[in-house]
Amino acid sequence: MSIKENIKKYNNQLPEKVQLVAVSKTKPNSFILEAYAAGQRIFGENKVQDLAAKQPELPSDIIWHFIGHLQRNKVKFIAPFVNTIHAVDSIRLIKEINKQAVINNRIINCLLQFHIAEEETKFGLNMQEAEEILNNENFKTLQNIKITGLMGMATFTQNNEQIRKEFRNLKNYFTQLKSNYFSNNPEFSEISMGMSGDYKIAIEEGSTMIRIGTDIFGARG
Ligand SMILES: *Cc1c(COP(=O)(O)O)cnc(C)c1O
Repeated sequence: MSIKENIKKYNNQLPEKVQLVAVSKTKPNSFILEAYAAGQRIFGENKVQDLAAKQPELPSDIIWHFIGHLQRNKVKFIAPFVNTIHAVDSIRLIKEINKQAVINNRIINCLLQFHIAEEETKFGLNMQEAEEILNNENFKTLQNIKITGLMGMATFTQNNEQIRKEFRNLKNYFTQLKSNYFSNNPEFSEISMGMSGDYKIAIEEGSTMIRIGTDIFGARG
Protein backbone atom coordinates (compact mmCIF):
# COMPACT_ATOMS: atom_id res chain seq x y z
CA MET A 1 0.00 0.00 0.00
CA SER A 2 1.05 3.59 -0.59
CA ILE A 3 1.74 6.07 2.19
CA LYS A 4 -1.51 7.81 1.28
CA GLU A 5 -3.47 4.57 1.59
CA ASN A 6 -1.80 3.80 4.88
CA ILE A 7 -2.82 7.16 6.32
CA LYS A 8 -6.37 6.60 5.13
CA LYS A 9 -6.40 3.15 6.69
CA TYR A 10 -5.45 4.58 10.08
CA ASN A 11 -7.94 7.43 9.81
CA ASN A 12 -10.68 4.93 9.09
CA GLN A 13 -9.89 2.54 11.91
CA LEU A 14 -8.82 4.79 14.78
CA PRO A 15 -11.35 5.73 17.46
CA GLU A 16 -11.98 9.47 17.50
CA LYS A 17 -10.08 10.08 20.72
CA VAL A 18 -6.87 8.46 19.43
CA GLN A 19 -4.40 10.69 17.61
CA LEU A 20 -1.95 9.39 15.04
CA VAL A 21 1.67 10.52 15.25
CA ALA A 22 3.28 9.59 11.91
CA VAL A 23 6.87 8.70 12.79
CA SER A 24 8.92 9.93 9.84
CA LYS A 25 12.39 9.38 11.33
CA THR A 26 15.05 8.47 8.73
CA LYS A 27 12.52 9.08 5.92
CA PRO A 28 12.87 11.80 3.26
CA ASN A 29 10.69 14.91 3.04
CA SER A 30 8.94 13.50 -0.04
CA PHE A 31 7.46 10.76 2.17
CA ILE A 32 6.29 13.32 4.71
CA LEU A 33 4.68 15.39 1.96
CA GLU A 34 2.81 12.36 0.69
CA ALA A 35 1.34 11.76 4.14
CA TYR A 36 0.64 15.48 4.45
CA ALA A 37 -1.27 15.45 1.17
CA ALA A 38 -3.42 12.66 2.62
CA GLY A 39 -4.31 14.98 5.50
CA GLN A 40 -1.78 13.92 8.14
CA ARG A 41 -0.52 16.83 10.26
CA ILE A 42 1.23 15.33 13.30
CA PHE A 43 4.70 13.96 12.60
CA GLY A 44 7.29 12.51 15.00
CA GLU A 45 11.08 12.58 14.78
CA ASN A 46 13.64 11.22 17.22
CA LYS A 47 16.87 13.05 16.27
CA VAL A 48 17.27 16.76 16.90
CA GLN A 49 19.54 17.25 13.91
CA ASP A 50 17.08 15.58 11.52
CA LEU A 51 14.06 17.41 12.88
CA ALA A 52 15.83 20.79 12.75
CA ALA A 53 16.81 20.12 9.13
CA LYS A 54 13.39 18.96 7.99
CA GLN A 55 11.18 21.53 9.71
CA PRO A 56 12.11 24.62 7.60
CA GLU A 57 11.67 22.64 4.37
CA LEU A 58 8.13 21.50 5.10
CA PRO A 59 4.69 23.12 5.50
CA SER A 60 4.49 25.38 8.53
CA ASP A 61 1.24 23.88 9.81
CA ILE A 62 2.88 20.52 10.54
CA ILE A 63 2.61 19.72 14.25
CA TRP A 64 6.01 18.36 15.23
CA HIS A 65 6.43 15.88 18.05
CA PHE A 66 9.87 14.95 19.33
CA ILE A 67 9.79 11.30 20.39
CA GLY A 68 13.44 10.47 21.08
CA HIS A 69 15.75 10.89 24.03
CA LEU A 70 16.47 14.62 24.25
CA GLN A 71 19.76 16.03 25.51
CA ARG A 72 19.49 19.30 27.36
CA ASN A 73 22.06 21.10 25.20
CA LYS A 74 19.94 20.39 22.10
CA VAL A 75 16.57 21.66 23.32
CA LYS A 76 17.32 25.10 21.88
CA PHE A 77 17.35 23.75 18.32
CA ILE A 78 13.74 22.54 18.40
CA ALA A 79 12.21 24.93 20.95
CA PRO A 80 11.21 27.53 18.29
CA PHE A 81 8.68 25.16 16.72
CA VAL A 82 8.23 21.81 18.52
CA ASN A 83 4.68 21.17 19.75
CA THR A 84 5.16 18.17 22.06
CA ILE A 85 8.18 16.42 23.57
CA HIS A 86 7.35 12.80 24.39
CA ALA A 87 10.32 11.56 26.36
CA VAL A 88 10.71 13.92 29.29
CA ASP A 89 12.29 12.15 32.23
CA SER A 90 14.10 14.64 34.49
CA ILE A 91 13.51 17.95 36.23
CA ARG A 92 16.70 19.31 34.68
CA LEU A 93 15.38 18.61 31.19
CA ILE A 94 12.02 20.16 32.05
CA LYS A 95 13.72 23.31 33.31
CA GLU A 96 15.74 23.61 30.13
CA ILE A 97 12.64 23.10 27.96
CA ASN A 98 10.89 25.81 29.96
CA LYS A 99 13.86 28.17 29.61
CA GLN A 100 13.97 27.75 25.85
CA ALA A 101 10.18 28.04 25.60
CA VAL A 102 10.40 31.39 27.46
CA ILE A 103 13.09 32.61 25.05
CA ASN A 104 10.80 31.76 22.14
CA ASN A 105 7.71 33.09 23.86
CA ARG A 106 5.95 29.73 23.47
CA ILE A 107 4.35 26.95 25.48
CA ILE A 108 5.79 23.47 24.88
CA ASN A 109 3.79 20.34 25.72
CA CYS A 110 5.67 17.60 27.55
CA LEU A 111 4.82 13.97 28.20
CA LEU A 112 6.52 12.26 31.13
CA GLN A 113 8.16 9.07 29.90
CA PHE A 114 7.63 6.06 32.13
CA HIS A 115 9.75 2.95 32.11
CA ILE A 116 7.24 0.16 31.60
CA ALA A 117 9.28 -2.40 29.65
CA GLU A 118 11.38 -5.19 31.08
CA GLU A 119 14.38 -4.10 29.04
CA GLU A 120 17.10 -2.28 30.95
CA THR A 121 18.05 0.02 28.12
CA LYS A 122 14.91 2.04 27.75
CA PHE A 123 14.70 5.45 29.37
CA GLY A 124 11.94 6.53 31.68
CA LEU A 125 10.65 7.22 35.16
CA ASN A 126 9.04 5.11 37.82
CA MET A 127 6.15 6.43 39.92
CA GLN A 128 8.36 7.72 42.70
CA GLU A 129 10.61 9.63 40.31
CA ALA A 130 7.60 11.14 38.54
CA GLU A 131 6.16 12.30 41.86
CA GLU A 132 9.50 13.85 42.81
CA ILE A 133 9.31 15.95 39.66
CA LEU A 134 5.71 16.96 40.24
CA ASN A 135 6.42 17.89 43.87
CA ASN A 136 9.58 19.83 43.02
CA GLU A 137 9.26 23.47 44.11
CA ASN A 138 10.94 24.71 40.93
CA PHE A 139 8.60 22.69 38.79
CA LYS A 140 5.57 24.50 40.12
CA THR A 141 6.93 27.87 38.97
CA LEU A 142 7.49 26.90 35.33
CA GLN A 143 5.04 28.84 33.16
CA ASN A 144 6.03 27.83 29.62
CA ILE A 145 5.72 24.05 29.76
CA LYS A 146 2.56 21.99 30.08
CA ILE A 147 2.59 18.39 31.22
CA THR A 148 -0.05 16.95 28.92
CA GLY A 149 0.28 13.29 29.88
CA LEU A 150 2.48 10.20 29.88
CA MET A 151 4.40 8.18 27.31
CA GLY A 152 5.77 4.65 27.41
CA MET A 153 7.20 1.87 25.27
CA ALA A 154 6.37 -1.77 25.87
CA THR A 155 8.93 -4.56 25.75
CA PHE A 156 9.85 -5.72 22.25
CA THR A 157 8.33 -9.21 22.47
CA GLN A 158 5.81 -11.51 20.80
CA ASN A 159 4.14 -12.01 24.17
CA ASN A 160 0.95 -9.98 23.81
CA GLU A 161 -0.10 -10.54 27.41
CA GLN A 162 3.11 -8.99 28.64
CA ILE A 163 2.67 -6.00 26.31
CA ARG A 164 -0.92 -5.61 27.51
CA LYS A 165 0.19 -5.70 31.14
CA GLU A 166 2.80 -3.01 30.54
CA PHE A 167 0.33 -0.71 28.78
CA ARG A 168 -2.16 -1.32 31.56
CA ASN A 169 0.48 -0.25 34.07
CA LEU A 170 1.01 2.99 32.18
CA LYS A 171 -2.71 3.67 32.15
CA ASN A 172 -2.80 3.06 35.92
CA TYR A 173 0.07 5.51 36.48
CA PHE A 174 -1.84 8.04 34.40
CA THR A 175 -5.02 7.57 36.42
CA GLN A 176 -3.18 7.93 39.73
CA LEU A 177 -1.28 11.04 38.70
CA LYS A 178 -4.42 12.53 37.19
CA SER A 179 -6.30 12.25 40.46
CA ASN A 180 -3.40 13.26 42.71
CA TYR A 181 -1.84 16.12 40.72
CA PHE A 182 -4.01 17.09 37.74
CA SER A 183 -7.62 16.69 38.83
CA ASN A 184 -8.37 20.31 37.90
CA ASN A 185 -6.30 20.25 34.76
CA PRO A 186 -8.05 18.94 31.65
CA GLU A 187 -4.85 19.37 29.66
CA PHE A 188 -3.32 16.35 31.40
CA SER A 189 -5.09 13.98 29.06
CA GLU A 190 -2.71 12.04 26.82
CA ILE A 191 -1.38 8.51 27.06
CA SER A 192 1.15 8.07 24.26
CA MET A 193 1.52 4.33 23.78
CA GLY A 194 1.49 1.95 20.84
CA MET A 195 3.76 1.51 17.80
CA SER A 196 3.39 -0.42 14.52
CA GLY A 197 3.61 -3.80 16.23
CA ASP A 198 1.46 -3.20 19.30
CA TYR A 199 -0.89 -0.25 18.71
CA LYS A 200 -4.05 -2.36 18.70
CA ILE A 201 -3.33 -3.60 22.21
CA ALA A 202 -2.38 -0.06 23.25
CA ILE A 203 -5.73 1.31 22.07
CA GLU A 204 -7.60 -1.45 23.91
CA GLU A 205 -5.69 -0.41 27.05
CA GLY A 206 -6.52 3.29 26.76
CA SER A 207 -3.97 4.90 24.44
CA THR A 208 -4.89 8.38 23.19
CA MET A 209 -1.87 8.76 20.92
CA ILE A 210 -0.16 6.09 18.84
CA ARG A 211 3.28 6.55 17.24
CA ILE A 212 3.43 4.71 13.92
CA GLY A 213 6.50 4.59 11.66
CA THR A 214 7.08 1.31 9.80
CA ASP A 215 3.43 0.57 9.13
CA ILE A 216 2.99 3.92 7.34
CA PHE A 217 6.36 4.62 5.70
CA GLY A 218 7.84 1.12 5.36
CA ALA A 219 10.79 -0.51 7.08
CA ARG A 220 13.79 1.59 8.05
CA GLY A 221 17.13 0.70 6.48
C1 LIG B 1 10.69 4.64 15.97
C2 LIG B 1 9.73 4.92 17.07
C3 LIG B 1 8.37 4.64 16.92
C4 LIG B 1 7.76 4.02 15.68
O1 LIG B 1 8.11 2.67 15.61
P1 LIG B 1 7.49 1.71 14.47
O2 LIG B 1 7.68 0.35 15.03
O3 LIG B 1 8.31 1.95 13.24
O4 LIG B 1 6.07 2.07 14.29
C5 LIG B 1 7.52 4.96 17.97
N1 LIG B 1 7.98 5.50 19.12
C6 LIG B 1 9.28 5.79 19.29
C7 LIG B 1 9.71 6.38 20.59
C8 LIG B 1 10.20 5.49 18.29
O5 LIG B 1 11.50 5.77 18.48
